[in-house]
Amino acid sequence: MEHAADPSHPRYRSLLMRHRLEVAAEKGMLADSALIAHGRGEAYDYLLGERTIPSAHIASQVALRALHDAEHPVLSVNGNVVALAGDEMLQLAEKLGCPLEVNIFYRTPERMEALLSDLNERKERLGIDVDILGAAPDATIPGLKGPRAKCETKGILSADVLLVPLEDGDRCEALVAMGKTVIVIDLNPLSRSARRGSITIVDELSRCLENMLSMSTEGLPSLESYDHNKSLQDALDAIVEGMKNGLSEPKE
Ligand code: ATP
Repeated sequence: MEHAADPSHPRYRSLLMRHRLEVAAEKGMLADSALIAHGRGEAYDYLLGERTIPSAHIASQVALRALHDAEHPVLSVNGNVVALAGDEMLQLAEKLGCPLEVNIFYRTPERMEALLSDLNERKERLGIDVDILGAAPDATIPGLKGPRAKCETKGILSADVLLVPLEDGDRCEALVAMGKTVIVIDLNPLSRSARRGSITIVDELSRCLENMLSMSTEGLPSLESYDHNKSLQDALDAIVEGMKNGLSEPKE
């Protein structure tokens, strides 16, 4: 059930996202720290002006091209990703013809079950055919310890290009060390994942996915044209510029 708040409310989108997390928490899909992670993202989004900045738009084009050109692309999802944009992740997997793998930091059988059944319900409602992996991990990500290292051979382990929105820094680094092209979506340009990813899109997850879903896969810029540090610096500059100009803008 979506939030009843009036769509004309200036904070409608933010309220809607919070509501989606509340519903997911009730269903046992989220770790206890999920709302803290979301709050950190919201703060950065506020500073970025709650818009897709030009460098993020370009990074998302480069990312879509890398996924489209990949031999074995995989989309990795955690609790917050399913809660905030489960439909869009499934639609992107369908657009690319690739699997989606549930890969969570605090792995418990109950959370895995809650996430897999939520995704399967969405898949049925949307009427799309996408492989959902994660239920039967048979491999580990080298360099990581414990349950968070678990993954599937036919999914994350053999992926050449991976989309890992809202990923933890250690796991991002371990995946890059395996030689994979790792695409991160993270509103914090200073986070370890943002810095360690191969391509980082500094944008709000659902906004970024809507943008990628509306793009044609033809004529997109290549990875060679992407400058990772410049893209992150552009995001920091956008925050600083916004702060300098923020109070000089007319009051709504
Ligand atoms: P890292 O280990 O990479 O340094 P972290 O410890 O700062 O990450 P986590 O708690 O692992 O952060 O994950 C939350 C990250 O996700 C934060 O960097 C936050 O900015 C980002 N984030 C939260 N919600 C969203 C969202 N809706 N869209 C994009 N990014 C988000």
